[in-house]
Amino acid sequence: MSPIEGETMEPCPSCGARHGGEEILGALKTCPSCGSHYRMEPVDRLAYLPDPGSFTEFSANLSSLNPIDLAGYEEKLSEAEAKARMKDAVITGLCTIEGRPLILALMSFTFMGGSMGSVVGEKVSRALLRGAEEKLPVVIYTTSGGARMQEGIFSLMQMAKTSSAAAELDRAGAPFFVVLCDPTTGGVTASFAMLADVTMAEPGAFIGFAGPRVIEGTIGQTLPEGFQRAEFQVEKGFVDLIVPRREQRRILSTLIDLHRGPAFPRNGT
Ligand SMILES: [Zn+2]
Repeated sequence: MSPIEGETMEPCPSCGARHGGEEILGALKTCPSCGSHYRMEPVDRLAYLPDPGSFTEFSANLSSLNPIDLAGYEEKLSEAEAKARMKDAVITGLCTIEGRPLILALMSFTFMGGSMGSVVGEKVSRALLRGAEEKLPVVIYTTSGGARMQEGIFSLMQMAKTSSAAAELDRAGAPFFVVLCDPTTGGVTASFAMLADVTMAEPGAFIGFAGPRVIEGTIGQTLPEGFQRAEFQVEKGFVDLIVPRREQRRILSTLIDLHRGPAFPRNGT
């Protein structure tokens, strides 16, 4: 929970400092004292990440059916839609960052824990395939609890679908960048989130497949402190670099320039 989500001002969960909501928003939802990165919804990312006014959403009208006729799923979807003010847990669109055109996908943890069902899988796949077709870089900000169990096998199929779309982008020669945000787990980690050319993470992000208790129970060993945090994973090579919010535009535009080549020559607008 972020200190500015509640009615009253909560202290920073990391350092205990109290700051006003405006001040935290001005710091891109980070703690002005310790730099701790709080969870961020797509609407707030759109305010700082793309060049102002450049984001054009596509695949906006896709919404979930109830493929396995699970009781109560439609109601859950309606509640999530009202809470997150999104039709499902990801938005996709075209935009520019420092003048470089790209395809951007932003996930929401507020919408059913960022779970990947048919709509998330389809939108992510379309974003990757569009990148392949138009030879544009694709940047995805992930946050997810994993597969959407309310869609049964259909949610698991999205892992294969998004992974093959990522392979198409690779074959087309356009680069793929992922920014792992807090938390990224389960079927999203086990598919497109780990297939990028450069895998980045926000500071302090929890990244894993299963939770620590499940792993400890399976392997019968005590795990090192903080082993599923971004900083530990950079050290072990699962993540290439940590990207604080203030530096993300600069880093992404630099990475896009570094990946230009014969298959991906397109220049900034
Ligand atoms: Zn703090």
